[in-house]
Amino acid sequence: MNDHRRLGRELGIFDTDPMIGSGLPFWLPAGAAIRKAVEDYVYELERRHGYQHVNSPVLGKRELYERSGHWAHYGDDMFPVMEVGGEEFVLRPSLCPHHALIYRSRPRSHRDLPLRLAELGGMYRSELSGVLGGLTRVRAIQLNDGHVFCAPQDAAAEVSAALDLIEAAHAQLGIEAVRYRLSLRGEGGKYVDDPALWAESESILREVLRERGRAYDEERGEAAFYGPKIDIQIADPLGREATLSTVQVDLYQPGRFDLSHAGGGRPVMVHRSVVGGLERLVAHLIEVHGGAFPAWLAPVQAVVLPLTDAELPAARELVRSGVAAGLRAELSAPDKGSLGARIRAHRLVPYQLVVGPREAAGGEASVRLRDGSQAGALPVAELAARCRPEF
Ligand SMILES: [Zn+2]
Repeated sequence: MNDHRRLGRELGIFDTDPMIGSGLPFWLPAGAAIRKAVEDYVYELERRHGYQHVNSPVLGKRELYERSGHWAHYGDDMFPVMEVGGEEFVLRPSLCPHHALIYRSRPRSHRDLPLRLAELGGMYRSELSGVLGGLTRVRAIQLNDGHVFCAPQDAAAEVSAALDLIEAAHAQLGIEAVRYRLSLRGEGGKYVDDPALWAESESILREVLRERGRAYDEERGEAAFYGPKIDIQIADPLGREATLSTVQVDLYQPGRFDLSHAGGGRPVMVHRSVVGGLERLVAHLIEVHGGAFPAWLAPVQAVVLPLTDAELPAARELVRSGVAAGLRAELSAPDKGSLGARIRAHRLVPYQLVVGPREAAGGEASVRLRDGSQAGALPVAELAARCRPEF
């Protein structure tokens, strides 16, 4: 069974150190390469679908989260206040309040809607140390987040468009959801007390789910404090479920931040995450692929294997041209062992480029795939093209 904690360390993807703290993993080079590939892919996917990217600070004043409602409804999960110069700051529990203020920072007209803002940013959760481990229970999360500010009559279409993005990304990443969940509010003071607001936002999500014809389960007590969600659930090898991607309708925070546009209307906020937090996503990718990542995600996409030292100069040149073409390519020289041993050591690398005397003379390589099949001689530009995601 693929356990991301064991495999992630073996493959040099991430690790932890008690001196940094539990729940605060760091990314090693292979993990940082995977993460960057995901970041670049999602950025481009969002860009092609009308999103504008922003960046905002990972902390803010206490009053920001009092205004958003997090302080009252989500305070137990937040880090304690830091006092600096007589002001109180908290590490942010979510990006929404910042994006609401970015909306408000410029005059908006109805023609600016829908305004789709996206950010890959840090958010923080004061998980107790006892439950931490690996990449799935962490205190610092890099979240692929986005907020669509739209007219109420466009909210359903924006929710549906967000689900399209999620489904496209899952297909590209090789992820299969176990189920869709309509997450509704439960009892207690965790949720904003405004029955009309909940009725309206739930009806928008139900309409979208009905139109898409996708089976889903309803669950009470799983909503965000400000609104209901469609959660796309994944499962680990033991069948334990977690939410990866989500789309939420929020009729609460726009009022709290008094968002408006010229003409006087109030936008709806559609919160959505296409791939969730990068920690949980990469943990899942490790388990799904067992380390044999799709070529566009692989930490090393091509390994160059000269047969003997005589082919070293040609092999080095091949690595150089591969790197220049955008490939994550590296050399495995004959001093690392026999060709067979080196192929075994790089069995997870999608493209294994063997350079013998004939290939060295021709300035190319014979390409071996990780399933052992041969792909013949491929130009570096073709290999680089095969290592790019599709949109
Ligand atoms: Zn949000």
